[in-house]
Amino acid sequence: MPIVTPLTKLLGIRVPVVQGGMQWVGVPQLAAAVSNAGGLGILTALTQPSPEALRTAIRDTRKLTSEPFGVNITLLPSITPPDYAGYARAAVEEGVRIFETAGNNPGPIIKYLKGNKCIILHKCTTIRHAKSAEKHGVDVLSVDGFECAGHPGEDDIGGLVLLARAVKELSVPFIASGGIADARGIAAALALGAAGVNMGTRFMATVESPIHQNIKDKIVASTERDTTHIFRTLHNTARVFKNKVAMEVVAIERRPGGAKFEDIRDLVSGARGRMVYENGDADYGIWSAGIAVGLINDIPTCEQLLNTLESETEEIIGGLQGLVVSKSKL
Ligand code: NAD
Repeated sequence: MPIVTPLTKLLGIRVPVVQGGMQWVGVPQLAAAVSNAGGLGILTALTQPSPEALRTAIRDTRKLTSEPFGVNITLLPSITPPDYAGYARAAVEEGVRIFETAGNNPGPIIKYLKGNKCIILHKCTTIRHAKSAEKHGVDVLSVDGFECAGHPGEDDIGGLVLLARAVKELSVPFIASGGIADARGIAAALALGAAGVNMGTRFMATVESPIHQNIKDKIVASTERDTTHIFRTLHNTARVFKNKVAMEVVAIERRPGGAKFEDIRDLVSGARGRMVYENGDADYGIWSAGIAVGLINDIPTCEQLLNTLESETEEIIGGLQGLVVSKSKL
């Protein structure tokens, strides 16, 4: 029996799992594999060098799947500010109608996408940002706990409390993001009122993930203690894999007088981080990872992963129902 939630109904998907946007990872082969497996695959717009390249990536994804998929547009400080509006326009013109947005000042992009009848899943790390996005008209909120990979915001609220707050405060459906990589996490998210989950790091360690095998193996070998935060002092906190470069950045940020972005720019650049995924050297640059690395012990195909998650979540929910016993049977 499938798990039916407002998310599965809205998006027309079978399993309430969204593969969140991931820089250098959200490419056609992964997004299509997730969608073919019953979840929602997401192409990361900024992984493509230009809006024109995004058009090609969208067409390539359509060759690999006839299921729904989305495009992620993340608005954060960047070394070379991207043409966000151009990426959004290219995706809309290519017929994409599901978007994951995230980051700072998403209002204008949300307005443009809503004007084109798109479904928007907006990721945020605080209830106040979620409420503001709700006012902008987003359809689903992706409520991102402190456990997450990448940018957790600056409030440091874990998923358990954030989701319990979300269910009281929000009126649109929301999904849980950050720290989820197994069926127990999905069942817990549903119990907390979420309509599904967003998973990023878990999908990095799948057969269809485009990253080097060494990095997939590194994720499997890692524990929940193997991530760290960089950019704390610059108010652009990012959770990344705790490697040599990340520790060097943290040390520079801790220097008396602190650090300016220019002091660490060459260490943290996305172009350098991308090489980690290409050459398989986990220490070469910065790469995002959530504490969910501690929950990942295998490298399945997306189909194996989503089938397992679906059946185990059903089993867990069934098991929980068994805890409720009528007084007459005691
Ligand atoms: P980049 O090379 O432009 O920057 C590398 C990192 O430094 C990023 O985390 C960025 O936020 C940060 N940064 C850049 N300028 C900064 C400044 N002035 N102050 C503080 N921090 C600064 O990044 P990239 O790897 O080419 O990625 C492009 C954009 O996509 C960035 O904004 C990045 O944060 C964002 N991103 C998106 C996703 C996603 O899933 N879509 C994931 C991670 C990062």
